[in-house]
Amino acid sequence: MMAKAIVAKKLKVNGIVQGVGFRPHVFQLAAQYQLKGTVANTSSGVSIHIEGSIDRVSSFTTDLSAKCPPLAHIVEITEKPQAVQNFSDFRIITSQSDLAISTLISPDVSICNDCLRELFDVHNRRYRYPFTNCTNCGPRYTIIDDIPYDRPKTSMRHFKMCTHCQTEYDNPNDRRFHAQPNACADCGPRVFLLDRHRQEIVAEDPIKAAARLLQEGSILAIKGLGGFHLCANAENSEAVVRLRRRKRREEKPLALMAKDVKRIKQFAEIDSEAESLLTSIQRPIVLVQKKQSHPIASEVSPRNQYFGVMLPYTPLHYLLLSEDFTALVMTSANLSEEPIAIDNDEAFKRLGDIADYFLIHNRDIYLRSDDSIVRHAAGASRYIRRSRGYVPIPVFLKHKLPSVLACGAELKNTICVTKNDKAFLSQHIGDLSNLATYDFFKLTIDHLKRILDITPTIIGYDMHPDYLSSQYAIAQNDVIKVPVQHHHAHVVSCMAEHQLEGPVIGLAFDGTGFGPDGTVWGGEILLSENHTFKRIGYLGPVTMPGSSAAIKEPWRMAVSYLQDAVGSNFQEWSVPGLKDIAPEKLTTVSTMITKQINAPLTSSLGRLFDGVAAILGIRSHVKFEGQAAMELEMLSDGRADGLYEFEWQKDHVFQVPPAPIIRGVLTDLQSGVSIAQIGAKFHYTLIRLFADVCVAIRKDSGLDRVVLSGGVFQNATLLSGLKRALEQHRFKVYTHEQVPCNDGGLALGQAVIAAAIQCQA
Ligand code: ZN
Ligand code: ZN
Ligand code: FE
Repeated sequence: MMAKAIVAKKLKVNGIVQGVGFRPHVFQLAAQYQLKGTVANTSSGVSIHIEGSIDRVSSFTTDLSAKCPPLAHIVEITEKPQAVQNFSDFRIITSQSDLAISTLISPDVSICNDCLRELFDVHNRRYRYPFTNCTNCGPRYTIIDDIPYDRPKTSMRHFKMCTHCQTEYDNPNDRRFHAQPNACADCGPRVFLLDRHRQEIVAEDPIKAAARLLQEGSILAIKGLGGFHLCANAENSEAVVRLRRRKRREEKPLALMAKDVKRIKQFAEIDSEAESLLTSIQRPIVLVQKKQSHPIASEVSPRNQYFGVMLPYTPLHYLLLSEDFTALVMTSANLSEEPIAIDNDEAFKRLGDIADYFLIHNRDIYLRSDDSIVRHAAGASRYIRRSRGYVPIPVFLKHKLPSVLACGAELKNTICVTKNDKAFLSQHIGDLSNLATYDFFKLTIDHLKRILDITPTIIGYDMHPDYLSSQYAIAQNDVIKVPVQHHHAHVVSCMAEHQLEGPVIGLAFDGTGFGPDGTVWGGEILLSENHTFKRIGYLGPVTMPGSSAAIKEPWRMAVSYLQDAVGSNFQEWSVPGLKDIAPEKLTTVSTMITKQINAPLTSSLGRLFDGVAAILGIRSHVKFEGQAAMELEMLSDGRADGLYEFEWQKDHVFQVPPAPIIRGVLTDLQSGVSIAQIGAKFHYTLIRLFADVCVAIRKDSGLDRVVLSGGVFQNATLLSGLKRALEQHRFKVYTHEQVPCNDGGLALGQAVIAAAIQCQA
């Protein structure tokens, strides 16, 4: 009988394959098929030398990806035949460095069910240990300082494993094999409860003591995975009000955390989509509809139909929430728009006036990462903020690009770096107008460059000369600098997700962006390709009296649209939103418009929403960007009775004047039509209008792909309505599913455009 042929091959596995139980998976498969060889983590992924009979090697190769562990994400497996070396066993060999680094790092994910069971098992040695984790769960991105991902490169380097933990760590058959943050109460991080003067509160169980303080109405700063949270009992109005006052956060909704879906159902409507988002290992904040009556303090999310709610994701959260709360307020620990606090010393300095007590621990967070925010809309889950749990999973591009750094926008900033065919969008950085956030922006750029081993040769940035992100880009040396138009970047960001290269009809609707013609853009129809665009349509411009003041005070936009629609005698109409504005103020603003003093022109659709909301009396002043528009959507009754008259002019481009719509709104107001009805008609008019314009554009251009991007598409009524209307006209419609449609996704488009422009040059 002939002996079965022995073959050997080398497999290189690329993707998220480190620190996620991949080597034990390989080891167990090798044992199952009685194969010999080695497996090693290298800086370019996992490298396997496997030898044995040809059919077994082939089954092994199939199972490698087919039975992949939950956190692993294989992008590519390459194979090369090797000489048989007659290994006597299969062995895991320790990390070695490699020059061509392309390893992907896993995001931080929630505690797994196995660890959770052990956490509440009195007989387990990790009973109530708040830092338990395994290869299938726990911190990753936020504790890594460099690659390859090994304990000495993480904030766990300060903790020496006890013999028990070390044994688990070394055993390929253990769930904690090479789990870098592996720890137990004997050897790992600990929690401490302190008062605001940094005096330790001695308690047998600091977490139980913290829960008691919360029940008594105290505000706690609690160190989590990607940063500190400020925490209060969500049923205690007085505590929530106090938290808002101290944090100087007046009206933005506060996030909630509840123990399980059953508890959330006590205060919110949960459908199957919301449930699967809530229970996913990424554990984002999910926007869910409030119940009519519920026990949550009304100050948590005032004038809003939604709660932002999440399930616990660390063992510490589970221990805290097991102390019988309906829900806890869990909001990023910062003052106003500053970045979230991550360091203990920093927390006492910055949060000392906000929190009464501090529940801290001694495992450092190297990179802050806020909670992500998602919602289900128009048939898919949509990011409002993409951060913890998702970053740094890349967007896979159609082609390899040169290394690009894109600096993002001014608000909701994120940055993006590309490596080959992957684009890495950073975690949420925030509003760059303050220095602390700008420092975080620079730190994130350096950190991502280091852990991804990238030296960008091209830098893309917004054309707006005042953005700090643009100024940063301009100040860099030895790179090619490419300014990118804001709305082009929005459209290409969505194209990149879907691997489109254009030309497409791009609808970029947002609040504000720099237009190359010196006006403020935001209601743009751009015929877009990666390297170029043509502005083929826009919302007819009106003035923004007071410039940025018109963003904070939508009543100014109301005056602007009214004057544009019915002339300067608009005061003869009864406009609920202007009743409380002093007549002399109205006259001043009216004059600013007529004489064009500090009143730039804008084609922004976001401003039109603000203006209509103000006319209807929904809101004359806002506390945060987009607030009036958001409330207008929420107050609009789902079904519209008729549409407003609309029109567009086509010269060489399409121009959509807002005046006829505004006149329709005014007429309805005079005849006592409800705000809910007017709001709904307004939405449906825009949907019909832009669908019709797209049909006209298709006649001229033959293009049948429409891309929807920009922050206005956070409006679910507009997004789903326009998508449906366009699909009824047989367009192919592309929307954001991997990155936010708002400025948080902008850097992705900037990166692709900057590379494309450079390649054309
Ligand atoms: Zn686990
Ligand atoms: Zn231990
Ligand atoms: Fe934008």
